[in-house]
Formats: sequence, C-alpha cells, structure tokens
Amino acid sequence: MPHSIEASPPDGTIASAIATLKKLISFPSVSAKSNVDINDWCAATLAQMGFTLWRSGYRDERGVRKANLVAVRNPAGQRCEASFSGRARALRYFGNDEGPEGLRPAANTSSNAANKCFTALPAGTEQHETSADHSTAASSHQGLAYFCHTDVVPAKKWVGAPTPSSPSTDDAAAGPFDAVVSDDRVYGRGACDMKGSLAAMLSAVARVDARQQTAPIWMVCTADEEVGFNGAKHLVDHCDGYRELVRADPVSVIGEPTEMNVVYAHKGIQGFTVHSRGRAGHSATNFGINANEAMVPMLVKLLELCQRTREDAGLQDDRFDPPVLSWNFGVSDHSNVVNITPERSDAWVSFRTMPEVDAAELVAEADATARRLGLTVTPIAGCDPLWTDPDSEIVSQFQAIAGTRSQTVCYATDGGVLGELSRRIVIGPGSIAQAHTVDEWIAIDQLRRGIDCYEKALRHWCTDVA
Ligand SMILES: [Zn+2]
Repeated sequence: MPHSIEASPPDGTIASAIATLKKLISFPSVSAKSNVDINDWCAATLAQMGFTLWRSGYRDERGVRKANLVAVRNPAGQRCEASFSGRARALRYFGNDEGPEGLRPAANTSSNAANKCFTALPAGTEQHETSADHSTAASSHQGLAYFCHTDVVPAKKWVGAPTPSSPSTDDAAAGPFDAVVSDDRVYGRGACDMKGSLAAMLSAVARVDARQQTAPIWMVCTADEEVGFNGAKHLVDHCDGYRELVRADPVSVIGEPTEMNVVYAHKGIQGFTVHSRGRAGHSATNFGINANEAMVPMLVKLLELCQRTREDAGLQDDRFDPPVLSWNFGVSDHSNVVNITPERSDAWVSFRTMPEVDAAELVAEADATARRLGLTVTPIAGCDPLWTDPDSEIVSQFQAIAGTRSQTVCYATDGGVLGELSRRIVIGPGSIAQAHTVDEWIAIDQLRRGIDCYEKALRHWCTDVA
C-alpha cells in the first residue's frame, strides 16, 4: 500500500513524538530501496510547520530514486512567502512529483538528468526572494541547521522487542517496520539510527513559535548515509537549498545517536581496492595465469603498512580512542574451484583518518607497489574527519544545554562531507550500541531528553527567548 503523504506534525509532547517516530519507522527505507516516500512525508510535515523546501533528487547506481530534502523556516515577517499556507507550500513542492518534469532544474547543476537538483520553487522570483531572505537573516543571525539521514540498514534477521509474557497478536507479529512500544522503549529499524532523533527535532521545532524566531531553522534529510554518505555528497554538489544553507553558515547539528553527549570530532573513512587480473585455464595446463601470484606480494605490503600504523606514533592521534588508523584489509579471488586458475584477485583496504593523520603517504606507498606489480588501484570514496574546536562556543553551549560531556568518536557521519560549514557537532538521542542491531530500540527517556535539548538549542540560536 503506498504511503499517504498526509502529514501530521508533532505538537511537542512526548506522546506525539512517539507517534511521529512510529510513522517514520513505518517507511521501510533501507538504503537499497527508495527513500522518496519518507522524505516526501517529512516535506509535507515541514511544509505544514511553515518551512520552505528544496528537493535534490537523484538515482543511485542501481537506478533507485533517492531524495535529499532541505527546508528552512525563517523568522516570521522576514518571509516573502508568508501568504502561502502550509498546504499551498506542500502542493508547490509536490507538483509533478512523479518525475522531474515541471520542476525547474537548479541553475548550477550538472547537465546529467539523473543528477540534477530540482527545486519546487517556480522559476524566477521566489528563488530570488528566498535568497534575499537569507542574506538578511544570515548577516546577523546564522540560525541552526539539523541534519539527519532517512535511510536505515537492512533488517533481515530482525528479532524485535522481547516477547511479552502474554503477547498480544499485534506485537507478536511485529516486523522491523512495525514499531512496538514496550518497556519504556520504542523498537523498530531506525528507532535509534536515526529516526528517533528526527522525531525529537520535529517535536522541538513544534515547541518554537515562528514569531519568536530571530534566525532561520534549517532541516536537512539525506539519503544513502549508510552506504557511503552518497546522499550528502549529492546534496553538497547539486542542491541550491544547501548552497543557501552554506551561505548562512548556521550552527550545524548532525543528530546521530550520542546519548546527547556532544561529539566535536569524529574520524573520517577512506580506502582503496587493488585489482589483479590473470587468465582462467585448466589448472593441469599452462594456459592459465593465476591472478593471486601478483597479489601475494601486494598483501605483504598491505600487512607491513598495517603494522606501521600500530607502531608509528606519527600515524596516531591520542585525541581518539583507539588513536590508530584502524587499517583493515581483505582479499578475494572469487573462486572455490581447484582445477581452474583464478583469473581475478581483488584486495580492499579501509582506514579511519583523523584531522592530522590522513595516511596519504601510506596510500602512495601502496600505489607504488601496485604499479610495480602491474596491479590497478581504485580509491573508495569515503568522507573526511569532522573537527570543531572543543573550546568553541557551540561545544560549551551544547554541553551546558544537554548537561552531558563532550567527546570524540571513531565512526563517521554525514558531517564528514559537510566541511563547508564552520561549526559542526554530532549530538542526538539514543545509544550507538543499539544502532544496527536485530532489536534496535530507543529509550523514551532519550527521546524526551533529545526534544528538550534541541528545543533549548533552537531557542538559544534562533530566538531571543531563552
Ligand atoms: Zn546513522
């Protein structure tokens, strides 16, 4: 059954936040599938809450439609479009939603149709007026931007909530996309990573009256975070709305689960693959060329580099735990037949970069060795580390608001590709320990704390009302 895009914005209470979260979980937005439905629902909801929208649509490498969403709510009175009702805004966004027809390609996008950014704003005036809005707002008040991803990891082995002693028929059959509230927790794929966070921010926004705003509130929902930050990368390269956001340079919150601790830095992730090509032949003859033979000395080099990352203090950064690059590698010849010479052998390497350790010299060494052996090297697109000064105002203010500590983490987020923004932190409800698990859940207390903290942050950076 297709999801309706009937939006029902939360009202700021915990009950409506839970209802919003259950709705968000009901979209089976695993990264391999489209996130268009859930982003359209978010768009409709934000439109009702007074936001102006941009959509950046693309097709992923398998041809699946994906969508990024950028939305902004300017201070009331600064909007040029105040006469549009929420419904009118939504219709403008959803007009001809089946495809890009009727939507205007944004000015500075690629000519490749699959990679165009489309905005629902008609050509001409509104786009200009929106820009004018921001230049006014951005000059003195930069506001706050919230970033989330709406894709989730697969849920094939889903176990879900523990079966109650007297299971109701509903709960007993609950799948990963049928949220279950049990034991002061909400269970469901994405509950923790990171639809709970989005429900919390939507609820926080609902508590802030646009008439009290003195600076813009930005909301960004990306696709494909779990598969290489591809949605955020597309956003950076192709979306007019994101360009507006960069010009405003707001305080930027990546709402991934941190149990509301203030994460001011995380590692990046980079990597490469190495390919050896031989020739298949009967192993009893001389016709084949075993691709593994050239790969073996390459693996020896990769192991040597791995050991160096553990021993060389110059390749470490004590501000992270563990302080090392976490050099990880593997190999496959795609073969389990003993009488054919393997024609392919492929190795991969991934490592976690840090602000002052980019491992470029290790990659150059691996590359030189591969060339000498006649192998080819292909980089794996990753993301940069995130770093914000732990003594900066954004970190201390968030610590004061959330009542938690500041820290670094080792996993990467969309924030790693948003380097044009000068003040980025990661803070959100839920624990990373529950992310990607077969019984993913978020504690309702975390949701509550998320809403309260986000509300205070919005009041601090976007209103004059403490
Ligand atoms: Zn996440």
